[in-house]
Amino acid sequence: MKHLLASLVLMLAPAVMADVSTCPVSGEKVGEMGPPVSIDYQGKKVSFCCDSCIAKFQKDPAKYLSKLPSK
Ligand SMILES: [Zn+2]
Repeated sequence: MKHLLASLVLMLAPAVMADVSTCPVSGEKVGEMGPPVSIDYQGKKVSFCCDSCIAKFQKDPAKYLSKLPSK
């Protein structure tokens, strides 16, 4: 039952899940400034607070990737 509940939460609240991410460009919590946006970079999902941060990230990915929490 617990597993089923967790799956439901994941389906119903994607924005809540995104909240735990931090935008590596601005340092803001993703989802606070507006709808979160994310891209796949080398197979890794990276979340940003806005489109302009994605543009900055793509100019210098290595710089911003180092700020991401390593998991
Ligand atoms: Zn941003």
